[in-house]
Amino acid sequence: MSHLKELWQLQKTEVEMVKLRKEWNQIKELMNRDTGEDLAEIQAGISEARKEWEQNKAEYDEIVSEVADIGRKLEQFNSQLYEGGSQSKELISIQQNIEQLLRRKDLLEEEQLSYIQRLDDLEQRIANETVRFQRLDEQRKSRLSRFSQRNEEVRERYAALKELREQLRQSIPESMMDIYIDLVKQKKGPMALLVGENCSACGITQTVLNVNALKKSGQYTRCINCGRILIARDEVEQE
Ligand SMILES: [Zn+2]
Repeated sequence: MSHLKELWQLQKTEVEMVKLRKEWNQIKELMNRDTGEDLAEIQAGISEARKEWEQNKAEYDEIVSEVADIGRKLEQFNSQLYEGGSQSKELISIQQNIEQLLRRKDLLEEEQLSYIQRLDDLEQRIANETVRFQRLDEQRKSRLSRFSQRNEEVRERYAALKELREQLRQSIPESMMDIYIDLVKQKKGPMALLVGENCSACGITQTVLNVNALKKSGQYTRCINCGRILIARDEVEQE
């Protein structure tokens, strides 16, 4: 037995292990980068808008109570005005007071409107940002759970492959393993397919001797150019 199939399987196993390690690192990096900083920023913006709303509401309430106060004063002055009995000098002063209070009231009522507008805007902003926060938070949670699920799958698959690799290494004779490991050290995939009469890795046409040795008797053969261990394509496709 030339153990070609085991060697081929070993290579496939190791290639997949490398891919899994790469994916595992990518997942780790993505998870590390996903700190939720954007969410914290939105949350801070919401708190700030809430504070601003409280501040505006307090100022608005002050205006409302001043308007009520003016209303009471106007009533008093008006009743003084119509009670009669006052001197004309006093009447003029009362009228001046009334006019002054009415001007102040107008001003305050305008301010009141702009406060109402501002409070509405803030409430809208808080509502919108809250919705945005919830949406992004949900997305992040499902993203992180997807990552950790895939992480777990990768870990399990990797452990299974590691065990398979150990089994294969043990079933392959040491002399073959030495050649395999030597090729790995040269940064080559140690195995290549014989496709027609060519090495699938470097493309060089093999000698008739090589082709026959491999195809007819399944003998251990190496590419005359790159030195990779060759395996017939049919052998692999049967798998
Ligand atoms: Zn070759």
